[in-house]
Amino acid sequence: MHDFLNDKRFAGVKPLKSKALLSSPTMHGEEWEYMKEAYQSGWMTTAGSNIEKLEELVSGYMGRRAVALSSGTAAIHMAVKLAAEKAYSSSSGVSTPFGKGAGGSLYRKRVFCSDLTFAATVNPIVYEGGEPVFIDSEYDSWNMAPEALEKGFALFPDVRIVVFAHLYGNMGQIVKIRSICREHNAALIEDAAEALGAAVSADDGKLPAGAAGDYGVLSFNGNKIITGSAGGMLVVPDEYSYKKVKKWSTQSREDVPWYEHEELGYNYRISNVVAGVARGQWPHLWEHISQKKAVYEAYQDGLQDLPITLNPMENGNYWLSCGLIKEDRMSVTARSSRSAVYQVEKGKSCPSEILEALATFGCEGRPIWKPMHMQPLYRSNSFITVEKAAVSTDIFNRGFCLPSDNKLTFRQTQHIIEVVRRCFR
Ligand SMILES: *Cc1c(COP(=O)(O)O)cnc(C)c1O
Repeated sequence: MHDFLNDKRFAGVKPLKSKALLSSPTMHGEEWEYMKEAYQSGWMTTAGSNIEKLEELVSGYMGRRAVALSSGTAAIHMAVKLAAEKAYSSSSGVSTPFGKGAGGSLYRKRVFCSDLTFAATVNPIVYEGGEPVFIDSEYDSWNMAPEALEKGFALFPDVRIVVFAHLYGNMGQIVKIRSICREHNAALIEDAAEALGAAVSADDGKLPAGAAGDYGVLSFNGNKIITGSAGGMLVVPDEYSYKKVKKWSTQSREDVPWYEHEELGYNYRISNVVAGVARGQWPHLWEHISQKKAVYEAYQDGLQDLPITLNPMENGNYWLSCGLIKEDRMSVTARSSRSAVYQVEKGKSCPSEILEALATFGCEGRPIWKPMHMQPLYRSNSFITVEKAAVSTDIFNRGFCLPSDNKLTFRQTQHIIEVVRRCFR
């Protein structure tokens, strides 16, 4: 790694005493009370009042039923199963590795999904034997490009499921994506793991992230805007889906006196202790959003004279602030699948240099999610773009995530800005 501490460009800059974190949990006190309640009442496992209350709070906000689960990834898996059941229930009778004549099997079916996202968005498609087809991003929102999705439907008109991720908390063109899905009779799964609390306006009112599509996925993982220490949720459109996911997620027991199973089950229900943490966090969601908004605005202000633009956040919750370096100010750099090299050049920089400089001076940044079509795991899957070169790849090459913790002080943001500034000296 470059020796930033002995680099004249950084003369006088000292590492922060308390590290500026990317995104860390913030506890408020109620979480402890609800956890204690679970402990003292003996409801320590996958039933109890914290689970019921958490589901009430979330469904009150979403205007739809919501099932609390062990993770966001589990919620995506359940959403994929529900959508597949609905879309392919007439294709039963075929023998698949996923069950004899399994009605609703996704086996070998294509599913459109965001390319620029975390792998958890797409892996559950493969759990079900489906084949992810990656749709490129657009520069305006960094999210799935509606034109690329339309091209996808032109190429593969029989696709019935779309998984859309709200990257870094921004909802992008979800309203347009929703109407394209309706036009093609496809279910829309929203991966809102990063976007809780964000909303967009549509003809039919305000759509919160998680209730803008057919199925909405939330995560209470430790680095999300609120946390349960772990956990997730699936927001569903009807009572049938609510009951079905509750059943699947608790090992699919039939309502009989012994362990009777007609369907494949999963151990995906949330614990009442974890639900207590998430329940205690819920009222603080809005203050976390306004704190993260202040961080984003500090960067917007402090970086404006640098060759950097921030990630779009028009309809977002400000979960992560990211920078994108202007093309003509990128230093020479190369990334293999394991490591990165770059040249230190006057007036130029690159994400690897900025992230290493930040780490040296006590700040935790992160690379942009590496696009799914670039992952060795998904190298042979289709990728659809309407541009000459992949937008997602370009954002990965030129972008980086800044420390975005809701507890960052103004002074810490100024230190971070100073480090980034000096990378361009
Ligand atoms: C965090 C995250 C998930 C997974 O959530 P878990 O609760 O960690 O399983 C899924 N998708 C995206 C986009 C995420 O950021």
